[in-house]
Amino acid sequence: NVISNHMPTAELQALDAAHHMHPFTDNAELAKTGARIITGADGVTLTDSEGHKILDAMSGLWCVNIGYGRKELADAAARQMMELPYYNTFFQTTHVPAIALSAKLAELAPRDLNHVFYAGSGSEANDTNIRLVRHYWAIKGQPEKNIIISRKNAYHGSTLGGGSLGGMSGMQTQGVPVIPGIHHIDQPDWWSEGGDMTPEAFGLERAKQLEAAILDLGVDRVAAFIAEPVQGAGGVIVPPSTYWPEIQRICDEHGILLIADEVICGFGRTGHWFGSEYYGIRPHIMTIAKGLSSGYAPIGGSIVCDEIAETVANGGDFNHGYTYSGHPVACAVALANLRILQEEKIIESVHDTIAPYLAQKWQALADHPLVGEAKIVGMMGSIAMTPHKESQAKFAADAGTVGMICRTRCFANGLVMRHVGDRMIIAPPLVISKAEIDTLIERATKALDETY
Ligand code: PLP
Repeated sequence: NVISNHMPTAELQALDAAHHMHPFTDNAELAKTGARIITGADGVTLTDSEGHKILDAMSGLWCVNIGYGRKELADAAARQMMELPYYNTFFQTTHVPAIALSAKLAELAPRDLNHVFYAGSGSEANDTNIRLVRHYWAIKGQPEKNIIISRKNAYHGSTLGGGSLGGMSGMQTQGVPVIPGIHHIDQPDWWSEGGDMTPEAFGLERAKQLEAAILDLGVDRVAAFIAEPVQGAGGVIVPPSTYWPEIQRICDEHGILLIADEVICGFGRTGHWFGSEYYGIRPHIMTIAKGLSSGYAPIGGSIVCDEIAETVANGGDFNHGYTYSGHPVACAVALANLRILQEEKIIESVHDTIAPYLAQKWQALADHPLVGEAKIVGMMGSIAMTPHKESQAKFAADAGTVGMICRTRCFANGLVMRHVGDRMIIAPPLVISKAEIDTLIERATKALDETY
């Protein structure tokens, strides 16, 4: 009995419910309805087991920047599997895919971020970052400079390290403590928390919390600050314009390492190669994953500046690594993905044409009676829903409910949007066309109408 796409949906769902534990899911609840089975995809469109076509405005999980169905990546994987499917990069060995990808990333990354440490995912890469920055300061004779400051509602992954760095309370429950030496400050979410302040004043106030925390904890104890240029999983929280310049000033003045988590913002999502470039941020380390391979193969990593890489290189063995650090097939797939992004000038097209078009359409959703605020940076946008447009009231405890209803209506109308509390968010493939953007907006509007 071969299990295949040709089996009836209900049978596949029953097998799925019997044997597959879904991440971030109430599995008992899901078993009642059955998971939707995605059987294929092309461009920006998914197909499910019942033949429905669904516009994927989330690029899977913010991954598929070049869109689905690119044969070049399948060919790159097949070639590499035949030539060298696996070899480790520990113990004095390396291989051409890891060399070539590292050189390419050094060329693409800003400033002197010239060195790559590979992981299998964004979470693992952030675990690497915790070790890297603490080890760096220890080598420099300051082992007590080991606290990492992060932000509430940030998402940095689901491992013990990544979940601790992140600021989502749900990630730090169910028996999982925050590992020692992590401190959280407030997020720059003006819609939810700005009160009567202007966005600019609020952005400054939130940035200054970093300085207050550094002074409170002690400059000699704070190793680094980590943040996503735009908080993605937290709800596409676009920071006020005053926020990043002030954060940069504070990190510079106090000698605090800056880690930009570019797992979502990297590889064209903002219309630049990296979100750091969009905001003029000068990080010492960037976390990468997702768009690095457009999700075609699991790979993540840290791109590290000269000074940190050289200090760590001269500090003896770095006792850290993963079996799949620099996996040759994943590296080959990532290289093919970067080649497509470059040769087809996809990021230029996003910057010059597609993102401005999407922004114009997306921001028009702010006129909908259910929408309080519509924000967008490049190809990532959010709308915050309100129960009362005039007063810009917030949905309280049932925020998740309105989001869930809207998401379900999107699905029924052939659109994947995600909900985070009372926000609906999008991050479509960068190759989406103007006509597909029109379809996205039409379906989103219909879903909002049906939720209202
Ligand atoms: N960092 C950010 C900003 C992310 O959005 C994510 C995943 O969504 C991660 C890290 C974790 O990456 P992964 O799920 O590949 O472990």
